[in-house]
Amino acid sequence: MSVPFTNISELYINGQWVKPASGHYEAVQNPATEEVIGQAPVAGTEDADAAIAAAREAFDKGPWPRMSMAERIAVMGRFRDCLVAREQEVRALLQAEVGASHLLLNGPQFGGVVDIINYVMQLAGEIKPKTMEVTVTPSLIDPNASGLLGSAIVVKDPVGVVVGISAYNYPLLINMTKLAPALIVGNCLVLKPSPLTPFTALMLGKIAEEAGIPPGVLNIITGGADVGSMISADPRVDMISFTGSDAVGAAILAQSASTMKHVHLELGGKSVMIVRADADVQAAGGAAAFNFTMHAGQGCALLTRFIVHNSVRAQFVETVKATLGFLKVGDPAEPDTIVGPLISEAARAKTENFVKKGLEEGGVLIAGGKRPEHLQKGFFFEPTLFDDVDNRSTLAQCEVFGPIGVVIGFDTDEEAVAMANDSNFGLSGGIYSADKAKAFEMAKQLRTGDVKLNGGTAGLYLQAPFGGYKRSGIGREFGPNWLDAYTLEKAIHYPIG
Ligand code: NAD
Repeated sequence: MSVPFTNISELYINGQWVKPASGHYEAVQNPATEEVIGQAPVAGTEDADAAIAAAREAFDKGPWPRMSMAERIAVMGRFRDCLVAREQEVRALLQAEVGASHLLLNGPQFGGVVDIINYVMQLAGEIKPKTMEVTVTPSLIDPNASGLLGSAIVVKDPVGVVVGISAYNYPLLINMTKLAPALIVGNCLVLKPSPLTPFTALMLGKIAEEAGIPPGVLNIITGGADVGSMISADPRVDMISFTGSDAVGAAILAQSASTMKHVHLELGGKSVMIVRADADVQAAGGAAAFNFTMHAGQGCALLTRFIVHNSVRAQFVETVKATLGFLKVGDPAEPDTIVGPLISEAARAKTENFVKKGLEEGGVLIAGGKRPEHLQKGFFFEPTLFDDVDNRSTLAQCEVFGPIGVVIGFDTDEEAVAMANDSNFGLSGGIYSADKAKAFEMAKQLRTGDVKLNGGTAGLYLQAPFGGYKRSGIGREFGPNWLDAYTLEKAIHYPIG
């Protein structure tokens, strides 16, 4: 059976479907079966140029930035409804293109995406011009003259043409964290997804047409680093919203510097879970096993570095190992699969190299470490646990993006916090402890964008900001101030009397 939307053979530019200028197409594989699901159009810089021109024209002259917020909210509501109407098709596409399990489709791969659109609509509805206090400003020319009574109104403008460049792992969610906030406040967008997941992005062009988004407001091109670097350097672009690796994030900062773009970066992580001696070790171990294996470890904010008090370390390791035994690794099309495949053979080879490195550096392999024997096809890898890992070793410092967890022992809270912060990353974190006040104190000391105490809240918690310290990023998405990144404040001053 063919996978929905994988017959799309054109790019979406200026409200039209156009063949890639290069005539180049690339096969996209289902990572669980290795079957080719479609031939995706590959954009080149000529297509990127047309997409930027369309977005620029739509922003400078088109209706979208000039509509009222209420009108754009209504369009976004239609966009959400059209997406929901295609739910079964979109879920089938996500399963085949990125190996999304049913569990994750109910959560961040699909269900959470609808919540994101609703949340952005709510935030946009709350944007109102702000009247500042009335004050007397002294005359600069004559300090003895009476000043001027006046005030200012602060309004929010869209930033302009936004480029969204996204990672492959949660393609619909990540694309929507660009599309929804950028468009709702009046920006025009050029979206460039990962070359590994082109169809999930191109599908959004079909939804945009159905929802009546005007031409040029949303442009979707594909392609790789050549297109990415061109669009992040182009002077017609005002902002880049990027989700991906720290290395590419750093390249984007450099590429965009000379044209002084606004840059929002959501990057990688090597997030810790600290397990204190008084913790519920069963709960912590169970959560740890789910964390580092979720979507086969392909998650930026997964907890993968377990800093565990030495008095409970053996029990923790046993619990994680036992829990891993219950996690079914297999085709995400099967409803009880928990751990699906890695995205590609290259991603699996990289994970295998990390195992080799972990052993060379003295880590003790507790579980996994190889391809599952029962799966002959697909880019699967066994959930893999290492104990006795040195926090300075490669395995504890580098982002694997495969299902590997590492356990590191500690004796004092100070040591645990110091090791947690001894990382180039700072995206997420967790602390398990019966002493909630102590855990809260430790959470404040962690140099990371969020900390979940005893598991935190379930699922996507959009009301709180999300983003990184250090090499995990610049800026925040979600939370009450999310739309600030996509707007510019303008103060309009006026005299009174
Ligand atoms: P990647 O950095 O390899 O690629 C991301 C995107 O950047 C792709 O679309 C790619 O084509 C593009 N790109 C590559 N070179 C470029 C260049 N020079 N200029 C502009 N664009 C360029 O990331 P990936 O392998 O797709 O995804 C995994 C990474 O994404 C991990 O590091 C993960 O932690 C991170 N991630 C972060 C978040 C977050 O919210 N913080 C969410 C998901 C994934």
